[in-house]
This record gives sequence, C-alpha cells and structure tokens, in this order.
Amino acid sequence: MPLPKSVEVGGIKFKVVRGPKTKGDDDFGEIDTDKRVIYVNPLVCKTEETEWMTLKHEVAHAALYVSGIGYVLKGKDEEALVRMLEHIMMPSLEKLTLLENG
Ligand SMILES: [Zn+2]
Repeated sequence: MPLPKSVEVGGIKFKVVRGPKTKGDDDFGEIDTDKRVIYVNPLVCKTEETEWMTLKHEVAHAALYVSGIGYVLKGKDEEALVRMLEHIMMPSLEKLTLLENG
C-alpha cells in the first residue's frame, strides 16, 4: 500500500513527502516539526515496507513533539523513546486492533 499524503498525530496534520529533505540526505526519514512535514527518503527506503517502517518511526517523533515530551528530552533520549514506541507499542496496538476487529 502506498504511503498516505498526510497523517494526523494528536490532532495535528503532518504532510507526508516521499523525498529527502535536503539533497544528498542519506537518512531514512526526517520530520520538520515547524513545517509539519514528514519526509520519507525513497533513495534509502528501497521497499514499500521500509517506507512504512520509516513513516511509523517519524510518527513516533511527531507524537513526542505534539505531546511536548520532545522538548525535555536530551541527546539520544528521544531516539530511545521513539524506538520503544516504534518496536513495542505500535505493534502491540496493531495486534489489539486486529483482534478487536476480528
Ligand atoms: Zn529517529
């Protein structure tokens, strides 16, 4: 399934753009919280699955930004929390949603 054109996180709409934020950017993805844009880099994300994984990772960053938690985290603290949300919380919620919907 192709990526959506936008995603809503905590009531705030973020545009989803397939493309690097800056030329030569080798990151999988990036979020610009000021412009409310999530970038998914197709030069690095070679499969749709990788694009979705990257989008979910950036949505976790967006959640921390919207909640205000992102303002108090230092250095790698935010990345550690994002990885917990991405690899533990989101899959658990996805499984619960599947169970709930039969
Ligand atoms: Zn990250």
